[in-house]
Amino acid sequence: MSDKYLQFANSKIGKSILSMLGLPKPPRLIRENENHPHQLSSNLLCGTTTAALYGTQIKQSLEATELVLVSEDAQSCNLVFDASGVRSTEQAAELYQFFHKNLSKLPRCGRVVIIGQQPNHIDSIEHAIAQRGLVGFMKSVAKEIGRKGATANLIYLNGFGHKGLAAPLRFLLSAGCAYTNGQVINLTTPVTELSSQHNWQLPLKGKSIVVTGAARGIGLAMSQVLARDGAVVIGVDVPQAQEQLEKAMSDIGGVALALDITAEDAPQKLIDCCGKQNEKLQGIVHNAGITRDKMLSRMSDQQWQLLVDINIGSVQRINQAILATDMLDQGGRIVGVASISGIAGNLGQSNYAYSKSAVIGMVESMKSDCAERGITINAVAPGFIETKMTAAIPFATRQFGRRLCSLSQGGLPQDVAEVVGFFLSPEASGINGNTVRVCGQNLMGA
Ligand code: NAD
Repeated sequence: MSDKYLQFANSKIGKSILSMLGLPKPPRLIRENENHPHQLSSNLLCGTTTAALYGTQIKQSLEATELVLVSEDAQSCNLVFDASGVRSTEQAAELYQFFHKNLSKLPRCGRVVIIGQQPNHIDSIEHAIAQRGLVGFMKSVAKEIGRKGATANLIYLNGFGHKGLAAPLRFLLSAGCAYTNGQVINLTTPVTELSSQHNWQLPLKGKSIVVTGAARGIGLAMSQVLARDGAVVIGVDVPQAQEQLEKAMSDIGGVALALDITAEDAPQKLIDCCGKQNEKLQGIVHNAGITRDKMLSRMSDQQWQLLVDINIGSVQRINQAILATDMLDQGGRIVGVASISGIAGNLGQSNYAYSKSAVIGMVESMKSDCAERGITINAVAPGFIETKMTAAIPFATRQFGRRLCSLSQGGLPQDVAEVVGFFLSPEASGINGNTVRVCGQNLMGA
């Protein structure tokens, strides 16, 4: 459903009326260009503390991203600040000074990325406190620049140094991160340096990836984005949606598998279908999900059982069956789809919030076992995304839901799909156990 308010706010007359009334003016976001995705043309100004921990290595990571680095004289530039060397709260003044001086240079839909160190990987208390402060700083910057359609995010390095930094840096500086705002990405797993063969343009070339709930909405967008990035998508959806699914998969050269994921034999049928395509499966995205909103006292057994079984029960059974084989080992990816309702809770959504919180629990509890097998498991937690699911929300609540974030608008299915594509890419091997909100910095649960 299109957001008429967004269109009005970006018309000449709309701009002045909304200014007069002091109402939010959602900016038009710049997203990946379908024909030329992953292009990074914008200039980048990189700042650092005087006693940077990884100074030259971070410069090397930036060079590996193929971004153009500029000097402080530049008039318009994206901003990266290596704050990993902020060892005390006094030293955080260097962070303040950099952004105080340069934030106004950020272009429309520009990007800010701050690099820090995970406080729980730091022995010195003073250093850990100074690093934890980066979260609040980054989130406030994100709120300040949201009006311009710009985003700010933080990458926390772990005790393994800067390795694996280039991929999240590049993603957070790209148009793919149009609706990912105010987030912390933790680099958790030690990774080897990028191979010289890494392919930024077709990162998923030749990889078989399953997407459930692929016939429409966010799952359809994921399938399209993954195919754009070179993957062979095995799209799964209920038999009732077979026609729509087959059309969607034929448009992207994918494989359609009409299957209700709650069926007893669904895990085996899925494995058999994947085995026919390729002996290895590079990733599975558990996107299929439903809502059955009702106040608890009026919620039927069926509304609870069915929802929990689709949104998390079947996900667990499919993971278990796949992990009983070695299909995903050494490079495989599991991606869950949670929701900000699973983080904040939501009125009339106790069943849904339970299932989506459980998705986050799945990521957290499986990350170590997955890491031992060279697999990563992460999740996205979408906020308000424009799909049939949110089109069913009553008008006033829908308008309110859209404006509740720093970017004052709902996201598009593509915004979620781009983050999923990033998790699935070989370069993201250092990112494990993360749940990243794709919500434009929604106030819910923030
Ligand atoms: P949607 O209803 O448009 O699409 C969901 C798809 O899943 C449908 O094609 C449906 O047929 C399929 N599906 C449902 N049950 C299935 C089953 N048993 N077996 C196989 N396929 C099944 O929903 P959407 O808005 O695209 O949401 C996709 C995911 O994103 C869901 O997990 C949802 O909870 C999550 N999410 C959406 C939003 C949002 O704002 N739209 C926000 C947060 C999270």
